[in-house]
Amino acid sequence: MANQATSSSSSPGPQEHRLEGQAGEEDLLTLYGAESGWVEARTHCDHLDALSSDLAHIPTPDTPCYRCQHPSENWLCLCCKEVLCSRFVNKHMLQHYQQTNHCLALSYSDLSIWCFSCDAYLDAQMIQQLRSVHEIAYILKFGEAPPFRAV
Ligand SMILES: [Zn+2]
Ligand SMILES: [Zn+2]
Ligand SMILES: [Zn+2]
Repeated sequence: MANQATSSSSSPGPQEHRLEGQAGEEDLLTLYGAESGWVEARTHCDHLDALSSDLAHIPTPDTPCYRCQHPSENWLCLCCKEVLCSRFVNKHMLQHYQQTNHCLALSYSDLSIWCFSCDAYLDAQMIQQLRSVHEIAYILKFGEAPPFRAV
C-alpha cells in the first residue's frame, strides 16, 4: 500500500493514479462514448418477437431498395426481409418502421443491427436470436464467417 513512495520515484504521472479507482472506468466511458462517435450496442432488446421466423434465407447485400432502387448500403428489415434505403438516402427503412412497426433492421453497409423501438444498436454477437442472421449476412457480404469474439 505504501509502495507509491518507492516504486515511482521518477515521475508519478496522473495515469498511475487512475488505475487504482473507478475513475479509470469513467475515463473509458468518456473515451468510447459520444465524444468519439462510437456508441455501445445494447445486449438486450424487448422486440425480438418481431423477428422473421426464416432468417436463414435473406436477400444479398447488393439488393437495391425495394421502393426507390437505391443500389447499395441499404437496410434489411429483419421482420419481413424487405430491403430499404437508409435515413441518409430516402429514409425508406425509417418509413417502413413507421408504417409497419417493424423495428429491427440490419445494415448492409456495416452489418450493424438497429432497433428503432430501442433507438439503439444491438450487439448481434451477444444476442442469441440475432447471431445467425448476422453471420449469414456477413458471409454474403465478405464470403467468409465473421471472427466471433470468444465468450
Ligand atoms: Zn428493441
Ligand atoms: Zn429507398
Ligand atoms: Zn419489415
